[in-house]
Amino acid sequence: MIAAQLGTSRDAVCAQILPPVPSSSSAGAGRPGPAWRRGPHPGCQNRDVVTRASGAADPRTVGWTDPSPSVADVGEDQLLAHLMAAAAQPAPDLPIPAGDDAAGWLPPLGATVVVTTDALVEDIDFRRAYQGPYAVGWKAYAVNASDLAAMGATPQLVVVTLLLPEATASGAVLALQLGIADAARVDGARVAGGDLSATRDRVAVSCTAIGTAAPARLLQRTAGRPGDLLLVTGTIGGAAAALCRLEAGAAPAAVPWADRLLRPVARVAAGRALADAGVRCAIDCSDGLLLDTSRLARASGCGAELWADRIPLAAGLDAVWSASPLLPAVTGGEDFELIAAAPSRIAEGLVRGAGWAADLPALHVIGRLRRAAGLTLRTRMGGPPVKTGPTRGYTHFRGGTD
Ligand SMILES: [Mg+2]
Repeated sequence: MIAAQLGTSRDAVCAQILPPVPSSSSAGAGRPGPAWRRGPHPGCQNRDVVTRASGAADPRTVGWTDPSPSVADVGEDQLLAHLMAAAAQPAPDLPIPAGDDAAGWLPPLGATVVVTTDALVEDIDFRRAYQGPYAVGWKAYAVNASDLAAMGATPQLVVVTLLLPEATASGAVLALQLGIADAARVDGARVAGGDLSATRDRVAVSCTAIGTAAPARLLQRTAGRPGDLLLVTGTIGGAAAALCRLEAGAAPAAVPWADRLLRPVARVAAGRALADAGVRCAIDCSDGLLLDTSRLARASGCGAELWADRIPLAAGLDAVWSASPLLPAVTGGEDFELIAAAPSRIAEGLVRGAGWAADLPALHVIGRLRRAAGLTLRTRMGGPPVKTGPTRGYTHFRGGTD
C-alpha cells in the first residue's frame, strides 16, 4: 500500500496520488449528501482525475488491482469529491446548488417523467476477471437506459450508489464512475448524484435513471392486442455467446460478440422511433427473447407465437453452439434489444423502412400476439412447435413459472 510506503498521513498520500479537487467542488464538512457537489469542470471529460489517480493513460484500461490508494485510505469525503469531479456536467436544468442532500431537476414542461433502477452485483452480474471497472460502469448505466428505451423515453439523469469493499482501488472506482458518465453522455444524460457505502468483499453498482417521454408516446408492455405483430431490433444471441466464451476463459479480444455483453448500448433512438410511428407496446430484451416476449404477452392479456426462421440471430453463433444456436440464443439474456408489438399495418410499414431511419438497428417481424395464453416457438409461421424445455430466460430467483 502506498500509504505505508510513504509513511505519511492519508490526506497527504491522496494529495500526491489523486489530483486536488478545487475547494468550490470539495464535498465540504459533514457527511456528504447524495447530491455530489458539481465542480467547475466542463463536461464529464475530466479524465485527468482518473488517469492521474491510477497512472493509466486511458480510464478504459484501469484494472481492479490498480496501484492507487484504496478507498479506505482515501476516505469517503475525498472519494465523493473526486467522483463528482470525474462526472461533473453543469446544466441549467439542475437548479439546486451542488452538495445538498438531494439533486434537483427541472423536467421539460408536460413530459412524463419515467424512472427505473437496476443494479450490477459482482459475481452475479459481472466478473472482475473479464470486466474492468470502466466497462462495469458503462454497463450499469446501459442496463437502466435500456429500460427507459423500452418505455419510449429519453434518459436525462442518473444517480449512482456504489457499494465497495474497503480494499477497492480508488482509481478503479473513478474509472467506473467515468464509465457511467461516458455511457450516459451517449444519450445526452448526466450523472446528478449518488451515494457510497461499504461492503465486505464484493463490488455492487446500482443506478437509478430518470428519463422523459411525451405522455401520448409512452411504450408500455400492457398495450399489446391479439393479432399484433411482434418486432425485434438488432440481433439476438450475441451476448449469451460472449458470456459462454468468457466464462470458459477466453480473452474479450478473442470473442467476436464481447461488446454486446461488456459494452451494450441501449436502443434509445429505436424506442423513440417506434413510439413516433404509433407503436405503443414494447419491452426490452434483457433476460432472454422467450422470457421477455412471454412477459409482454402476459402483461397485455395475450399469448404469443414466435417464428424461429424470422428471428435475427447474431452471426457466427454456430461456432459456440454447433448443434443449433437457436435455443441458447433465444433463452440467453442481455441482448438489450427492444421487442415491440404493433398492428400489422404499422409493423409492416416500419420493416419496409417507413419511419425507420437508416442508422437505426435492423427491425424484424418475429411472431404475433394471440388470444390463447402461453408462448409457442414455431419453426416458421404455421410450422410445428419447437420443444423449448423448462428454461426460457434468466431470472434471479428460480422457482417461479417462467
Ligand atoms: Mg426491462
